[in-house]
Amino acid sequence: MTTPIRRQYLQVKQKYPDAIVFFRLGDFYETFEDDAKTIARELQIVLTSRSMGKDQRFPMAGIPHHALDGYLAKLINAGHKVAICEQLSDPKASKGLVDRDVVRVVTPGTVVETNLLEIKSNNYLAAMVVDGDRAGLAYVDITTSEFATTQLSLDRALPELERLSPSEVIVPKSFENHLAGEPTRLDDRWFDLGTARQTLLDYFEVASLAGYGCDQLPLAVRAAGAIIAYLKETQKGALGQLPTLSTYSTESFMVIDAQTRRNLELFRSSNTGTVSGSLLSVIDLTKTPMGGRLLKIWLGQPLLAINALLQRQEAVAWFTANAVRRAEIINLLARLSDLERLINRVRAGIAIPRELVALRHSLELMPQLKSAIGEESAPLTGLASELKPCHEVVELISNAIVEEAAGPVGDGGVIKPGFSPELDQIRSASRNAKQFLAELERKERERTDIKSLKVGYNRVFGYYIEVTSAHLEKIPADYIRKQTLVGAERFFTPELKEYESLILNAQERIGELEIALFKQVCRQVSGSGERILGTARALAQIDVLAALAEVAVRNSYVKPQLTFEDAIRIVGGRHPVVEQALVETGFVPNDTLLSNSDSQVVILTGPNMAGKSTYLRQVALIVLMAQIGSFVPADSATIGLVDRIFTRVGLMDDLTTGRSTFMIEMTETAAILNNATPQSLIILDEIGRGTSTYDGLSIAHSVVEYLHNNPRLGAKTIFATHYHELVELAKTLPRVKNFNVAVTEEGGKVVFLRKVIPGGADRSYGIHVAQLAGMPRSVTHRAVEILKGLEEGKPAAKKEKRKPVPDQLSLFAEKPPVLAELEMLDIDALTPLEAITRLYELKKKA
Ligand code: ADP
Repeated sequence: MTTPIRRQYLQVKQKYPDAIVFFRLGDFYETFEDDAKTIARELQIVLTSRSMGKDQRFPMAGIPHHALDGYLAKLINAGHKVAICEQLSDPKASKGLVDRDVVRVVTPGTVVETNLLEIKSNNYLAAMVVDGDRAGLAYVDITTSEFATTQLSLDRALPELERLSPSEVIVPKSFENHLAGEPTRLDDRWFDLGTARQTLLDYFEVASLAGYGCDQLPLAVRAAGAIIAYLKETQKGALGQLPTLSTYSTESFMVIDAQTRRNLELFRSSNTGTVSGSLLSVIDLTKTPMGGRLLKIWLGQPLLAINALLQRQEAVAWFTANAVRRAEIINLLARLSDLERLINRVRAGIAIPRELVALRHSLELMPQLKSAIGEESAPLTGLASELKPCHEVVELISNAIVEEAAGPVGDGGVIKPGFSPELDQIRSASRNAKQFLAELERKERERTDIKSLKVGYNRVFGYYIEVTSAHLEKIPADYIRKQTLVGAERFFTPELKEYESLILNAQERIGELEIALFKQVCRQVSGSGERILGTARALAQIDVLAALAEVAVRNSYVKPQLTFEDAIRIVGGRHPVVEQALVETGFVPNDTLLSNSDSQVVILTGPNMAGKSTYLRQVALIVLMAQIGSFVPADSATIGLVDRIFTRVGLMDDLTTGRSTFMIEMTETAAILNNATPQSLIILDEIGRGTSTYDGLSIAHSVVEYLHNNPRLGAKTIFATHYHELVELAKTLPRVKNFNVAVTEEGGKVVFLRKVIPGGADRSYGIHVAQLAGMPRSVTHRAVEILKGLEEGKPAAKKEKRKPVPDQLSLFAEKPPVLAELEMLDIDALTPLEAITRLYELKKKA
């Protein structure tokens, strides 16, 4: 026989097969069967069992309800979803079974718990739907109310998804995906155009989607509709209304693919994996959580439109020029709370009293901020006018909520006296009763002549009069026995009973009233929600612009001149992150000139450790910083805007995919050659190093030729290499220029000058670097011998049989068949996969 409660549980569980069901039973959330086993394992709590009907025992594990947040955090972080099933009717009042239902499903993309969120990061839930080579991509952050959708080509969708790095992605069940991580699969019907459109129309209560700009973008509608359906399903009533849906296009942003993000260490250092050592760590001087999040968004979406960039630049310039006001504004910003998330918590009905007070304090700073920005500060007036002091909200909160409100709503300490006459009245009645009881002790001592008589209270027995056993004979006749202790007895009197119920009823009533009043205040504040959200967003921008100015002043950056020309000119450029580590010894600045018409491909040679990689990245970073509106680490810079920065640097075995280093290198290079345009900037470091010398050299050689000669490309390129043979290319290819990172020798040791100078490096100082690195002397001496042999054109065989190494310089003089074959290759006509296959063949032949 299945018990009613078991049946109730099964009904709930059936609706949420993919989630762990937290089933509220009194003060506990209980889980059963497989769910119980999972949480016992994940949370290291005891697995017990519960009897539900005759001869039926089920595994069970539970957590106390007040500890929910902490346990929830662990489960969500471990990738689980949790359906929270609450008791909906009062257990005391209801006869029989208490009503229960799921009030919210917590998933990684829909958490609102503050301890599960990173302050300076958005927490995105994304939806993706694919049709042929087109995709719809929508995302939402329910903690900040950002909701956007786009329709784009599939190959753009993946980098866009990477940029967002959502905590959760929803896709149609039938979608065969190659997404990283396991997406949440939903019934295809939610992604159906008709259903999705209707979901959105209903949600926003509108008759057409035209106002949101996605009317004509079916895939964008399908993705956005599915997100709303999923939110409704998981958030139930807890979902605050999202104010709007914005349709955007990735075409207005520079695509930054995963490898470029990693190679340029934009958000994390690749050594440590932490923010420290990344570009973000240098430029993030934002003071507010919303500013921190916005800066990340800007860094992930460099702009292509010069006008928008000029606006940002002007605002940054205003801040750099007005040092006193900048300091004042930054100080004010530092005192702000996370307005954006706060107002969302209020709207979703999950704010606590302390958060309302914080909201008020932040709003109170608006007049000061506005006056610090001033009237005639042109680049900022637009933003300043969006800062709304919301006086009515400030007033409401300061009238209603106690300044130091600490406990939960309902304990009686949240609503200020004077806000609600009804509440005040009950409070004073209860206070009088308490006073009466305090008096009672004195009165009863007098009456009974028992000095040790006490009036006390405990949760189980309520109010009592306690008399020690020694004085029991003195008690009056109207004392009624309540409880016997060791050495004392507790009594009550009809009078005590009366005041007790007065106090207890009053407390209950105060609690109820307080909850109702608090809800009402939150609702009223929500009424100004959009203005507060708008204020928060304007603050975020002001914060980022002020931060970029502060960075520029501290580190002596300059305002780059932005143009539509096809040239990049940097004088005295520096690497923003490396220079921070070299304040003592000094970073050596370097110039850069790249232009499609003249200096299109720079071949940068120089020994290992000379500074090639640093230089490459520095150029890419300066361009990227310019295109988010930031100032740049240089003496001066003129940046012809680029449409994309491609990078292929370093050697890193991708252990996760099991592909060989060389394979990755070639795949990435192929992607660059296939996607770059004349407006792109390409940074290549040591192409071809993952294979044997001749393979590598030939590939490097042909890649440069292709970049130079293919009319579709002509992209500005810096190519760092230790193959100094490549300097020969400048003789035949007019737009190839040689540069090298200068070194000199002193006393047989190499001295790095860190200066990029015209011309090719004449020799590799690899052996010197090996010596510096502490290689045994005998090894480096032998290497010098071998090198000499090579340079004289004869194999340097010693004792052991060694394959003779042919003279490298003769490599291009008489073409080996492999090279001839390579020359014949029509790279344009090859898919990346074919290219790699051909490469493997060529390598075998070589
Ligand atoms: P390469 O790529 O040629 O092997 P790196 O770019 O890795 O060399 O540079 C090696 C080290 O030289 C860096 O760790 C950095 O500390 C230092 N370095 C590079 N460029 C400069 C510079 N312009 N000024 C000062 N130090 C530099």
